[in-house]
Amino acid sequence: MHDLLDDTLAGHRLTEEEAVRLLSTRDRGVWEIAAAADELREQKVGDVVTYVRNQNIHVTNICKNLCGFCGFGRRADDPEAFCDDLATVREKARTAVARNVTEICLLSGVHPDYTLDSYADLISCVREVAPGVDIHTASPDEIVWAAGQSGVSITAAIERLRQAGLGTLQGTAAEILVDSVRAVICPRKCDTATWVGVIREAHNLGIRSTATIMYGSCETEADRSRHLAVLREIQDDTGGFTEFVPLSFLYENTALYRAGLARPGATGREDILLVAVARLFLDNFDHIQVSWGKVGTKMAELALLSGADDLGGTMFCDDVSVDAGGEGADYLDPGEMQRMATDLARSLRQRTTTYEMV
Ligand code: SF4
Repeated sequence: MHDLLDDTLAGHRLTEEEAVRLLSTRDRGVWEIAAAADELREQKVGDVVTYVRNQNIHVTNICKNLCGFCGFGRRADDPEAFCDDLATVREKARTAVARNVTEICLLSGVHPDYTLDSYADLISCVREVAPGVDIHTASPDEIVWAAGQSGVSITAAIERLRQAGLGTLQGTAAEILVDSVRAVICPRKCDTATWVGVIREAHNLGIRSTATIMYGSCETEADRSRHLAVLREIQDDTGGFTEFVPLSFLYENTALYRAGLARPGATGREDILLVAVARLFLDNFDHIQVSWGKVGTKMAELALLSGADDLGGTMFCDDVSVDAGGEGADYLDPGEMQRMATDLARSLRQRTTTYEMV
């Protein structure tokens, strides 16, 4: 492992098999992997810890997919189902603007009745209220759904949303980009090839996106490694990913866990290794994010010592995590982020969605 880490720091590109070996480490080698990833982070992006001032807006929790790992999505007839009208969305966007955000994330269920017009109207109404803000929305699964509902191509759907005001695409709905795993955790979502196709199309059209992984349910180290390889290959060709965002599975209120089909989330060792191996494997990504809402702020600080350089966003609200059982996942004050960065002798900087410093 020493040789492998030395070689990687000297420019060797990790293979999938090597990534599996690193992800399977169970002894103090974990710290060596984390240290190598931290060194690479320092070489690549220096000692700055970044964050984006953003706000999630949940428009609806009604969802056609009802993924087993999700505690947020509801059937339309569920007493807890909601679907905001445009006036309410506009009001939420006004609140976000008053909080000086540079990014608004429309993060919702995939409503079975939504068409491309519905998505375009939502984006336009936020754009009216928040002209200078990056509207970060629409996962590949939503793009496919909207395009299919309205009988247009993926390219036409993305173009239409861009005209409405779409800034960047959400690299969500990736979960694990291995179809045998998707068949268990999100069988109604688009398959791997479709997800990859939409992301490539968006990048080719000049729309950048994040890249995510939802790990810790029922996938293996080999599945995680395959997922990273899919992302690295896309990035080689398009360069369109802004950052890699590991999302640790929050299991408490999920059907997948209740049915005995998933473990109770990743362990701390796995959280650290996922970040560290991602830093080492994804040699064509500049930024590795740690999702404090999923792993908590103490683990997030350790992840910043293991290859991560970005703390994601302020959020202000994240019902997707809270509904799944994530306590305190809705807001992190930049003052607390500052405390974490200072504790590591690093400096905190506010960034835009595409990593320009504010
Ligand atoms: S993860 Fe997204 S697509 Fe799946 S049920 Fe939840 S809201 Fe719907």
